[in-house]
Amino acid sequence: MAYAWDPGTDPLDILAHLGEDDHPNGAVIPPIYQNSLFVFPNTEGLLGALEGSPLAKPEHYSRLSNPTMDVVEQKIAALEGSDQCKVVGSGMAAISNAVFSTVKAGSHVVLPDTTYGPVRKLIEQYLSRFGVSHTYVHGGSVDEIIAVTRPETSLIYLESPTSALFRLQDIPAITEFARSRGISTIIDNTYSTPLYLRPIDLGVDIVCHSATKYMGGHSDITAGAICTSEERMEQMMRFEVGLFGNALHPMSAWLLNRGLRTMPLRLTRHEATANTVAAWVEARPEVSVVHHLSLESFAQRDLYLKMFKGSTGLFSFELKTDSRAIITKFCDALQIFQRGISWGGHESLVVPIHAKPADYETARWAIRLYCGLEAPETLIADLERGFATLSA
Ligand SMILES: *Cc1c(COP(=O)(O)O)cnc(C)c1O
Repeated sequence: MAYAWDPGTDPLDILAHLGEDDHPNGAVIPPIYQNSLFVFPNTEGLLGALEGSPLAKPEHYSRLSNPTMDVVEQKIAALEGSDQCKVVGSGMAAISNAVFSTVKAGSHVVLPDTTYGPVRKLIEQYLSRFGVSHTYVHGGSVDEIIAVTRPETSLIYLESPTSALFRLQDIPAITEFARSRGISTIIDNTYSTPLYLRPIDLGVDIVCHSATKYMGGHSDITAGAICTSEERMEQMMRFEVGLFGNALHPMSAWLLNRGLRTMPLRLTRHEATANTVAAWVEARPEVSVVHHLSLESFAQRDLYLKMFKGSTGLFSFELKTDSRAIITKFCDALQIFQRGISWGGHESLVVPIHAKPADYETARWAIRLYCGLEAPETLIADLERGFATLSA
């Protein structure tokens, strides 16, 4: 019997069952379809697949689609509330495909100056080769975005929050403006996952994820997801997804499905731990500011309360000192927080980030913490080791 679900279904139910109705040979877990291609019983069937919509089933070639990808795509689309989802080989693959689908020579892109570094590089250093220009904004005010928009602006790119300084954009105000001008919007929703922010409901055209983070959840795959309308996805399958060829490996799609099943449980834990740890860090006299969405002191608290269902395990803080040597020593003293980029797995991580958005007079260091699944007391005791280096 097909599993019945609707938009009000608990995400845990969706992630446990959606898309898993046919149990081949009674397999309780969908098998890994380790196939590059799929054959047809007759030539008409094959030609129908080649000539038809790239979204149609059955699959014919795994660069485009594969039943193991299909299971996770159904689940992520259901959580995001999008018509379609496509999983690809990394978050940057998802973002590159989406961005290329919205620009042509002469286009102009607006994006926050604290956007994820490789995305800034893609737009600033790479797309400029093809005659695509851009303007950076702080992002916090829709008026600032409207002011820099030009007739040739084809894309407003959002990341809310950005992942070093945790800056938000007013998504509904921006999408209302963008739609009135026929400008596409893309958001990187990796920090929140669809459990805490549903950008499609707020009018965003394309939602991208690094599924490497919370969705995979175990630091063992790189993966990306693109969520959008039927119309945009069909075009993206014919062009970017089909031509750039950055398909997700079937084994990684299978691991992604395994990770997704527990995402709501993990996120609840990451959220509670990060809230405890961030409040503790904020009370330290050595700290000048904590950038964490759910703190009362958070600079854009109104926007947070307006759009988000919760915050997750990632935040950053600044010490009163801005010495690289002192910050390095602080991070080196940590034993549980391991020094590394990325996030979303069970293990807590720390990374110093040197940032200079336009509103900073000079570059400053922020220390970004990712709170994994360890006990909050363990993490706080670990941070005590870091703070002890400041008085030594
Ligand atoms: C990691 C990350 C990406 C890129 O994802 P990959 O899977 O590493 O390609 C994009 N955006 C944000 C916010 C990220 O943290």
